[in-house]
Amino acid sequence: MPLVPMKELLVDADKNGYAVGAFNINNLEFFQAVMSAAEEENAPVIIAVSEGAMSYAGVDFLEAIVKVGIRKYSIPFALHLDHGKKFERVLEALRSGFSSIMIDASDKPFQENVAITKKIIEICRPLGITVEAELGRLLGKEEDVESLEAIYTDPEDAVRFVQETNCDALAIACGTSHGAYKFKGEPKLDIERIRKIKQLTGVPLVLHGASGVSASMVEEANSLGFALKGAKGVPDSEIKDAIKAGIRKINIDTDLRISFLIGFQRVFLQNPSEIDPRTHLKEARLRVKEKVREKIRLFGSSGRY
Ligand SMILES: [Zn+2]
Repeated sequence: MPLVPMKELLVDADKNGYAVGAFNINNLEFFQAVMSAAEEENAPVIIAVSEGAMSYAGVDFLEAIVKVGIRKYSIPFALHLDHGKKFERVLEALRSGFSSIMIDASDKPFQENVAITKKIIEICRPLGITVEAELGRLLGKEEDVESLEAIYTDPEDAVRFVQETNCDALAIACGTSHGAYKFKGEPKLDIERIRKIKQLTGVPLVLHGASGVSASMVEEANSLGFALKGAKGVPDSEIKDAIKAGIRKINIDTDLRISFLIGFQRVFLQNPSEIDPRTHLKEARLRVKEKVREKIRLFGSSGRY
């Protein structure tokens, strides 16, 4: 099925009270894992490509993989630039046929964020391409995106931002963070803040840094030789409440990374004489696929297509 603008997926999610998963991919295995899980679950899905993924794989290679996916899979999906910061990267994504762009100027002062977001919308809207913007700041580091302090999104600011930019979706800061170490104490999101922003703006809201980093996954990784002491993510119950409050797109990267490495490492430790990397990659891909399936069910997007 041809790519769809991300907005279409979010409008349906809004109408029916669920969230669409946005899963980061960097290569063939991740793409196949996400798409096959979504296809089996009859779920709409968002393929997220970061500027880091563009640098790693080359955007034209990723474009070629996605083109095959358009032929092969029957579920609706959007191809989305995650955390677009450089104008050239946005243009590259547009040239490669992306159906959605995130412009992240959240590290800039309010008016500058508005101005940059408006400029991208001016380019994308006539092309029918969705634009996600970000207001507020998440703690943590994800590739080139790093912040040492968290600034929760202010509901009144969010209203002004949406009115001035007319963005299609808004990423907000409400307690999540990028990376595997999201909480030192009790893992809690500011659900009331989400509800208020949703009520006031009406726009589909986006939750970044939303991986679960479950205790069982961390334990399994550590038993295989990884050192992820104290890693902690967002509990499923908080995700469910966030969706009820108005979150319509949920970004998952860390959970997929760890799942991939668990699969790979497990094969290596069980059979150190195995030198066909396809054996490792197959298990890694399967682990990612099962994690994506788990998320799709959690988000309520299973059976929505
Ligand atoms: Zn993010």
